Amino acid sequence: MSTEWRTWSRASRCRPQRIARPRDESEVVAELGRAAAAGQTVRAVGAGHSFNSLVCTDGTLLDMSSCAGVERIDPDASTVTVRAGTSLAALNTALHRAGMALPNAGTITSQTVAGALATGNHGTGLAHGPFAGLAVALRLVTADGTVRDCDERSDPELLRCARTSLGALGVVTRVTVRVVPAFRLRSAPGSRPLEELLDGFDEWAGSADHVSATWLPWLDNASTRALHRTEDRADRGARLRPLLSSVEEVRCGLAGLASRLGPGMVRWVSQTLPPYRPPASYVDSSFQAFSFPQPVRFFALEHALALAGVPDAVRELRGALRRFGLYSPYALLMRVGAADDAPLSPAYGRATGYVNLTVPRSARYVELLRMVEHVLREHGARPHWGKAHTATAEILRPRYPEWDTFARMRAELDPDGRFTNDHLARLLGEPARMRAGR
Ligand SMILES: Cc1cc2nc3c(=O)[nH]c(=O)nc-3n(C[C@H](O)[C@H](O)[C@H](O)COP(=O)(O)OP(=O)(O)OC[C@H]3O[C@@H](n4cnc5c(N)ncnc54)[C@H](O)[C@@H]3O)c2cc1C
Repeated sequence: MSTEWRTWSRASRCRPQRIARPRDESEVVAELGRAAAAGQTVRAVGAGHSFNSLVCTDGTLLDMSSCAGVERIDPDASTVTVRAGTSLAALNTALHRAGMALPNAGTITSQTVAGALATGNHGTGLAHGPFAGLAVALRLVTADGTVRDCDERSDPELLRCARTSLGALGVVTRVTVRVVPAFRLRSAPGSRPLEELLDGFDEWAGSADHVSATWLPWLDNASTRALHRTEDRADRGARLRPLLSSVEEVRCGLAGLASRLGPGMVRWVSQTLPPYRPPASYVDSSFQAFSFPQPVRFFALEHALALAGVPDAVRELRGALRRFGLYSPYALLMRVGAADDAPLSPAYGRATGYVNLTVPRSARYVELLRMVEHVLREHGARPHWGKAHTATAEILRPRYPEWDTFARMRAELDPDGRFTNDHLARLLGEPARMRAGR
């Protein structure tokens, strides 16, 4: 009997006929041969931290977590070569020991390198593109079992497409990523009226190496966080932060449970339980400062907008969220990033502002997510590939100037749709030969 597989958030589940755990490239090649002989489709999975059905299959699921480990850190070239199933946490630890670091990162480190690449994972900072933009070389096994290496010189077009591929081009087994000397960051929290933040959004976005802002719809003020590079040593606030963040996550989780008693309960619980007080200002290693524990499972939506379009989009959202009748206990999160050139990167071709909404795992929040998605879509947003969304190829294609570049690469590397599933068919259309066979 087949075993059920579920995402971290439990938002999606499937029953693959086979779950394989290849330990190296040769085992990946063997699994692809086996799947082809059995007429099965194949999906690779990293840590299962996407909030949709990207990974789901009723064929073969390739769990890449055993294809892990750092192969080489090259301080002269400022690169690290790592196996695709390595978690970002393990990568951070290995880099830290070698006096190196990733220049930027998102809020957790459980994801695998390949999963983070494939979905356009990002942190925040106007000088920093998505994680995938750091990849200077990678190796993938394509549908017919061919092992392809690409880098910026040998095959820049394949590299660009494979950097953010949704797992549609092949199984990535190895990646070389640009790194920097290890550094520390000072975290400085702040608060200001949301309207003031939006009025000066561009200026605020460039005011520190990494900035983020959160806002609860029933409040007038937004909370801000700036991370500045510093030579100062890590201090006591750094040790407290994981604890305080966990308490805040639990508080949101409890408010989410209370929402089942009535929509007004979210605001009541959020205001009654002691509010989150971030450590005033503290210093920590970069990779510790970027991330925080998120022990409570949730659903999330995130969209990438042109940076200049964020203020109007958030102003419209403010009204829509206040009218909706059900609040999320989690604050709306705003982050920023540099443009990217991978054809399917949500940051393709434009300085980007990311707007994220997290909600409790309850069916009553699905409508709220749909409403927010609708508002952001009207502002030219592109959905985060790893988060909840309902976009289709028809909606996405006009938003990606190099959509056809990726489509051609997919048709060349996977003409029979070995790596497709229902979710990808909705997003990217059906692969070349399936269409021709109709
Ligand atoms: C608590 C939490 C916090 C998050 N915070 C952020 C954040 O701060 N910023 C952000 O941008 N995102 C964030 N995300 C989203 C998450 O980082 C991405 O969705 C990412 O894909 C998850 O990586 P994964 O290893 O779990 O990939 P999975 O979800 O397992 O897979 C994602 C995609 O990658 C493909 N894939 C995986 N491995 C391979 C491989 N070896 N070869 C080819 N394709 C492969 C899969 O087929 C699938 O298409 C967060 C998610 C959670 C649950």
